[in-house]
Parts: sequence; structure tokens; C-alpha cells
Amino acid sequence: MADPMYWNPVLETLPREKIRKLQLKKFRKIFQWAYDHSKFHRKLYDDAGIKPDDIRSFEDIRRVPTVEKSMMRDIQGKDPFPYGDALCVSLEEVTIFRQTSGTTGQPVYQPDTWQDWEWWMECWSYILWAQGYRPRDRVFIPFGYNIFVAFWAGHYAAEKIGCEVIPGGVLDTKARILKIRELQATAMMGTPTYILGMAETARTKMDIDPSQLTINKITCAGECGASIPSTKKRLEDAWNAKVYDHAGATEIGAWSFECTAQPGGMHVNEALFLVEIEDIETGEIIEEPGHRGKMIITALDRQAQPCVRFDSKDVIEWAAEPCACGRSARLIKGGVVGRADDITKVKGVLLAPSAIEEVVRSVDGLGDEYEVIVDKVGDAERIQLKVEVLDEAQDQCRLIESELADQLRLKTNLRYDIEICGCDTLPRYEVKAKRFKDLRKPKSEK
Ligand SMILES: [Zn+2]
Repeated sequence: MADPMYWNPVLETLPREKIRKLQLKKFRKIFQWAYDHSKFHRKLYDDAGIKPDDIRSFEDIRRVPTVEKSMMRDIQGKDPFPYGDALCVSLEEVTIFRQTSGTTGQPVYQPDTWQDWEWWMECWSYILWAQGYRPRDRVFIPFGYNIFVAFWAGHYAAEKIGCEVIPGGVLDTKARILKIRELQATAMMGTPTYILGMAETARTKMDIDPSQLTINKITCAGECGASIPSTKKRLEDAWNAKVYDHAGATEIGAWSFECTAQPGGMHVNEALFLVEIEDIETGEIIEEPGHRGKMIITALDRQAQPCVRFDSKDVIEWAAEPCACGRSARLIKGGVVGRADDITKVKGVLLAPSAIEEVVRSVDGLGDEYEVIVDKVGDAERIQLKVEVLDEAQDQCRLIESELADQLRLKTNLRYDIEICGCDTLPRYEVKAKRFKDLRKPKSEK
């Protein structure tokens, strides 16, 4: 018998009006739950003059105040220690501590109950099944199991759907590659940066061609890369594997995924999450495709520390067309295209760092790493871009530099001071890369 196509055939093909009805019903329930069980939420909603019974439509939901990461930081360390009063269950019911990765400041603590943890695994089961993971897969997880959630839930979901899981844990990159070869692993998960770095290590330090190994699919998360066409292509060529994007966050859950149809975007798992897109300037909710805004998201089933209209700062837009895979959950075009925090004005032009990545990774002869520094020289703003030229392309440096400058100007409308570096001179990252440095801001705002 052929494999079933969907992890949850009912929810994944539910007609749109039924999905919306389900979302509204679940939103009312989680809102009531947060209101009844957390002082933090009750005060927030009382101050805004909104009560659970007031919520009857999606328009009513828009009146519910959003929660910012900084608000969660402020209550942290208070009672009930260490989570503060957004906690909706007793401390006895909390079974797992995690924290955010701290990329954008002091990490935020995240408690989960066992029921929440099972929900995490369920969210990830949709992702893996949609990306073609099946019980016959042998999944290698090249991840330093740590205090933030990253691939933990992916690990358990892979077990849940019946795959065989190899925890790569504290092995170093070379040992991981050898283990993949030894056990003939078929799939793996990692940040795009790390998966590219692994391929480079295999090729340049071990004389192993990663495209000859048995990996046939890779799930990427943690950065936008797998939805950036030129980065996806580099990843897929390096490993001779299909590469799929996924976005999730510690304080939200695993909310979106690319499917095997590779539709140029990711599905929002709308049976489990409510995603709203807010216009950054007007604050209006955007329903139409083709207009970018920041994501306001609600995890419809998460209980210990609810995520109700969380202001994620992820910049996304709805896709115009449904996906060929038959899932009714909407697609966001091009995945998460940036962070509202990262999109910055340079020389009066709006610049998204992911646009620079797209260009750098599309130019032949360049390595995978790059670094961008925005600073001021006197009153003038300057963008420095450091790239690595591959050894075999050293004699074409000038040609590469001029192509890069042309493409950047076309794509971003800005001029860059390009610095060509030798192979392996820029920093390498295992988890989230920090390639964009804005030195114009005072320290406290970083
Ligand atoms: Zn699809």
C-alpha cells in the first residue's frame, strides 16, 4: 500500500471555512484559559477592556493586545519562580525547561507540561511527514542538544512517526560525517549555516564528497536560508538531497513547514496556529497576498505558558496560490523573509539582510560565508561586505567582485564596499549565524 500522503488527513485537507471556524473556536478557548489562569494575561486584557465573552469574530481577536518578548522578559525571575505570572499551571505540572536562543537579547524562559511537550512532537510530526519522512528513514541529528528547544522536538517527532533516530549530540563535525557514512543515514536536520559548513568540512578537510553520501532529505530551521533560492540550491547541490524549510520558535511552537511540493514558501499549520499579518506602519491586519507585514501568532493548544497574539517580529506575506500538495493550510511566500528588527534603513533605503544572502549565494566562485557591517564614516553611512572567494576561483577575483556589486545594486538598490577574503577566514557558526552587524546603533539598542 502506498504511504498515506498526510500526517492528519482530516485537518490537513479541511475546507477553508472549516479551518477558520476551528481557529475561532480554539482561540476563544485558549483566551479564556489564559484569562482564568494567569495574572499576567488577566491584567493585560482587563487594562484593554476586553473579556473572553467579547470574542465572537476575527475582528474581535484583533482588539486583543499583543504580547512582546520584552514583556515576558520583565516577568521572568518573579513568582512563581523562575517563570513569573504568565504561567497557567502549577509548578508541579511543569516537566521541561527551555529558553530562547538569546540571539536578540536576554533569553526568555519557557516552561512546558508533558501535554505541551506531546503537542510539540505532534506539531513536528506534521512537518516531517509533509517533508517525506517515513518509518524507513534513518535520521541523523547533528545538533548539540542544549538548553534551547531547536531540534529536540524534531528528534522526538521523528521517533514518534517511526523513523530510526541517531542523536549526533556532542560529536564534532568530522565524527558526525563519519557516522552518517557508517550508518547510511537518509535524513538530517540543522541550520542552513551548519549544514553548508558540514559539507565544506567533508570536502576540504576529509576528502569526502557529501553528495555521494546517503542523505536524501534535510530539514532546515533557525535561519531563513532554506527558503532563499540560491542558498537552497547550494544546500541541495552539496548533499544531492532535497532541502526543506521549517520555522518555529521556543515561545511559539513549530508553526510552519515546507512540503515536498517545494512551492516556494511554507505552509502555516493553521489547525494548530492562528497567524495574522500586521502592516508594520498602519497596524492593520493584512488579508491579501503580496503585502508584507509582521507576524502576530497564537498557539491554539499550548497551555503552560500560552502564546496568545505574540508579536513575533517575523516578516512574512501570504502567497496567492494554494499548494499543489492539496493541503488547505495557507502558504507564506518565500518563507520568513526577515525580522522586523533586522530590516533597517541604510542611506534612506530599506534593506533586508536576507536579500544580501540571496545575492552572495548566487554568485559562482564565492564561498558560503559572508559578513555585513553597516557603520558611519563622518555623516555618511557605509555598508561593508566581506566575502570569501574559493581557492579555484582566485584568478577571477575582479570579475566576481564586479558581478557581485552589479547584482547587489539591482537587488537592493545600494552600493557596497566589497572586501574579498581568502577561504576559511570568516567566522563559522554552528547554530544561528550573526552575519549582519549594524554599528550605527548605540549599544543599549542592540
Ligand atoms: Zn504543500
